[in-house]
Amino acid sequence: MQFSKCTVCYKTIGWTGLVSNIFLSGLKLFVGIVAGSQALIADAMYSFKDLISSVLIIIGLKISLKPVDLEHPYGHGKVEFILTLVVSVVFIGLTGLILLLTMDHFFQGYHKPPHLIALAVAVFSVVANLFLFKYTRCVSTQINSPMVKTLSKHHGADALSSVAVSAGIIGAHYMGLIWMDSLVAVFETIHLLYLGVEIFWESFKGLMDYSAPADVLRKIQQTVLDFDEVKTVETLKTRQVGQGIWIDIVIGVNPDLRVDEAYDVGCQVEAVLFETIEHVAAVNVRFGAHDSRKLLTQGL
Ligand SMILES: [Zn+2]
Ligand SMILES: [Zn+2]
Repeated sequence: MQFSKCTVCYKTIGWTGLVSNIFLSGLKLFVGIVAGSQALIADAMYSFKDLISSVLIIIGLKISLKPVDLEHPYGHGKVEFILTLVVSVVFIGLTGLILLLTMDHFFQGYHKPPHLIALAVAVFSVVANLFLFKYTRCVSTQINSPMVKTLSKHHGADALSSVAVSAGIIGAHYMGLIWMDSLVAVFETIHLLYLGVEIFWESFKGLMDYSAPADVLRKIQQTVLDFDEVKTVETLKTRQVGQGIWIDIVIGVNPDLRVDEAYDVGCQVEAVLFETIEHVAAVNVRFGAHDSRKLLTQGL
């Protein structure tokens, strides 16, 4: 049930994200207000979003990694999706509010270029987020946690957003385009809104027993058919529960096999699937004689 080859980053990732994003969002909000940069204030929202994600990761990973127990025989993986769903709704609401404020400010038409300290902070934010992006991506590829994956992707987006903020400040300050900072702020909040909806959709999919990707399905099929005794894959169902993939498969075996032989094949299939498919949490194999029209299945 656990796939943590990279346990050190795994255990610290929530806390690293929390501390660095408290710092980043606080710094950007403060300097954004003092220096009069709307875009930098909107940019603080990006870090604020990652701050919340980090808190969820700390709580969520703790719960979702709990081993199966009597009340939860299918594990605790879905808690990640539930937490993320709740947060995305709050985030969408908050961002919608900020969008109204920035639009209002933009169309009021009163603009003055932000102080240059805002530029320094934006550039610093680019560098910090690039570092966080690389660090979280390492962890997310190792453990397949949807929450860590999202966090990693967002650190990448945050770096880009801070690039846009820098461009806006440069435009407002050096090129006489004084409205540019506010325009960047409007675009930033629209993008944040989009990210919020995306997060909502991802967690919704997770709660709906979303299937594993097509290439994984193909790989499972291929792996199973590589057995000489296996003639067909009758049905193959997968679903993603938190970090893990659950596989339900019915194989059609050679009808000349005795039941105990077929049972052995089933066990081998199960073992090989655990070995070859990444992030498998559970495998349920059933078998039947492949040439009979009505497939008689035997539970394993
Ligand atoms: Zn439990
Ligand atoms: Zn690592």
